[in-house]
Amino acid sequence: MTTSVPKRRNGVLSALYALGKGGTQLARTGEATARPSGESGNVAGARKLFVYIASPSFSGSTLLTFLLNAHPDVCTVGELKAGMPEGGNYLCSCGRRLVECDFWQRIVEEHARLGRRFDLNDFGMRFERQPSRWVGKVLGAGVRCSSLELLRDAAIATLPPLRRARDRTLENIETFALAATRITGARVFLDGSKDPFRLKYLPRLKHFKLKVIRIIRDGRGVTNSMMRNEKQSLEASARSVRNMCIQLERMELKLPAEDCTKVYYERLCREPNATLNALYRFLDLDPSRAATDYRGVEHHIMGNRMRLRNGSEITLDEKWRRELSAQDLEVFERIAGDMNRAAGYE
Ligand SMILES: [Zn+2]
Repeated sequence: MTTSVPKRRNGVLSALYALGKGGTQLARTGEATARPSGESGNVAGARKLFVYIASPSFSGSTLLTFLLNAHPDVCTVGELKAGMPEGGNYLCSCGRRLVECDFWQRIVEEHARLGRRFDLNDFGMRFERQPSRWVGKVLGAGVRCSSLELLRDAAIATLPPLRRARDRTLENIETFALAATRITGARVFLDGSKDPFRLKYLPRLKHFKLKVIRIIRDGRGVTNSMMRNEKQSLEASARSVRNMCIQLERMELKLPAEDCTKVYYERLCREPNATLNALYRFLDLDPSRAATDYRGVEHHIMGNRMRLRNGSEITLDEKWRRELSAQDLEVFERIAGDMNRAAGYE
């Protein structure tokens, strides 16, 4: 925990708001891993696993979520951050709305058994959505350079509204993971929310040990998918991909290396079995227990529209190769070429 304490004055709040803007340079400062006291001695096997998929959007996280959910020791609903603003009307991957889905009904009932109320219209699991807007802005800001992150940590440690909101959100996440693992009998809970800033808080879970799977995909593919799906310009998409990768790098530097692994989207599509077996080993799971047809098992997943498709075929999406012009590729190269090469793509 940090020992620096900010003074409560306008300058500090201004700096906190700056967390939500600018500051995209890489911060490799070797700062200590931010962990709450008593949490550093994670004992594998003593606690269930909370597995977090971290990546930019359109990197294959929904596919990986479905594939891992085919293992009986894994349970997931995809992106815990999803569901809003449709709430109970959100379409579960089983084809029913959350309010009509038996699985989600069992989640509500299990929460009641745990003495908690679960509202399908508002999960309360988004750090960035808080009754006080400034609280959500500080907790949910992107991961910035070390000095701003130290400031955020100090603010959370000293300002009760921030601390309470963080702890309440974490408690909601933890209760949900407990309910889901109790219903399914799984010992691994998977959250495919992807955003790097959630990783600031998840190491504080009390009943789960955190492990992180980072998905790497060719930035040209991510950019092209983002342009098509979010109707964004190539420049904005490439900048967004680059910024997200920088944030993921920053976050990964703060986590124990042995609790993080990388998955390459292209390899996952080309060699799914070998890639999944490596992931099962990372998660201490028996590969032989995984279902061979991942679509043949029950799924109740939120997130990318891909969740609503049928069919088990895994198709590598490399549309960018024919959809991006030479000029587009030049623009991408100027904005994010260095990042893409550093990730191993030529
Ligand atoms: Zn469902």
